[in-house]
Amino acid sequence: MAAGPCGVCETVTLMAYVILIVIIAVVALSGGGWLLFLRPRRGRSVTAPSGPPAAVSGTSAAASGEDAADQAGGKPAPATGVLEAERPPPSAGRMVRLRARLARSQGSVGTALLNLLSRDRLDDETWDEIEEVLITADVGVGPARAMVDDLRTKVKVLGVRGTDEVRGLLRAELLTQLGDEDRSLRTTPHGGVPAVVLMVGVNGTGKTTTCGKLARALIGDGETVLLGAADTFRAAAADQLQTWGERVGAKTVRADRDGADPASVAFEAVTEGIETGVDAVIIDTAGRLHTKVGLMDELGKVKRVVEKKAPVDEVLLVLDATTGQNGLRQARVFAEVVDVTGIVLTKLDGTAKGGIVIAVQREIGVPVKLVGLGEGPDDLAPFDPAVFVDAILG
Ligand code: GDP
Repeated sequence: MAAGPCGVCETVTLMAYVILIVIIAVVALSGGGWLLFLRPRRGRSVTAPSGPPAAVSGTSAAASGEDAADQAGGKPAPATGVLEAERPPPSAGRMVRLRARLARSQGSVGTALLNLLSRDRLDDETWDEIEEVLITADVGVGPARAMVDDLRTKVKVLGVRGTDEVRGLLRAELLTQLGDEDRSLRTTPHGGVPAVVLMVGVNGTGKTTTCGKLARALIGDGETVLLGAADTFRAAAADQLQTWGERVGAKTVRADRDGADPASVAFEAVTEGIETGVDAVIIDTAGRLHTKVGLMDELGKVKRVVEKKAPVDEVLLVLDATTGQNGLRQARVFAEVVDVTGIVLTKLDGTAKGGIVIAVQREIGVPVKLVGLGEGPDDLAPFDPAVFVDAILG
């Protein structure tokens, strides 16, 4: 029976095939497993080419989140070549020139208020509506109520009725609420040292952009400026600041590595500012949303260390006008940890809630000194209450 041994051969061959197929399958699966395992790592290395170096990349979870915010914020790319310094226009009359930006966003509030105040009958319901318009514009509940009480009394006592009279009344009331504080910026050298400006605020509010715009404005006014990139947690922030500086011929002092001590960068900047005899040193700081104690330690140290060299003349708190109550909460925290001397309200071009100017001054007790009215290099203006109110009222 020749078929016997041949059958055995076939069985053995078949089994060999099966074993071979099983081996191939196992190898293929494990290989696939490696591929699956490797794919995400490959992905990470591709998406993070500009991240901080490995030595510091793991030191702060917040830093990576901020990098993402940077990308969302559309920072200018770092300088790639030698830029010829521009001669920026002087800052005088900026707010008048940028008034159209305000009118676009704030006009609706003014129109609503004027319409309500011009009604034939100013009953309780109308006054409630007026209060509501003010609250919706972020004036704050307390100030809105105070304004309504004031206006009510004046309308009753003076019997104001005509359109021009109503407008005049509202204008005077808004100006009263804005106050007549000293809004000047201390940016001129004194006692043989430059003026030192510390820019503080939460990331994303427009802090670095404001440092750049302010440097431009001062240079346009004939001053010399040095920038200090003390936001050492984000390489992009220092690049961004340096680009602003290169455009207008202001040197930027920055750390040679990410995560360096912000206070030492600030110190270096002021030291160099003194040595080179510039008029003003503007220092950008990190605004990570972490604990109040952490913030206090960080900003407190920057200020203390700088003051070994020169007094800090301005601590400007940068707030995003579009963030409403959230922005006010941030302002409160910052005001508790540093002596804020002025507020910079950015993105006022992008919101109808200009009432935040009144609310934040009341809350923090310091004046709004500058306003940001766009992303352009010259879209920063000294705050002028009369221009602001006229833009509201149209
Ligand atoms: P930082 O993280 O606080 O330093 O914020 P940046 O300076 O990077 O600004 C965040 C974003 O806000 C950027 O896209 C800026 O161009 C934008 N920005 C800053 N100021 C203004 C402003 O006044 N108006 C508008 N519309 N955008 C602004």
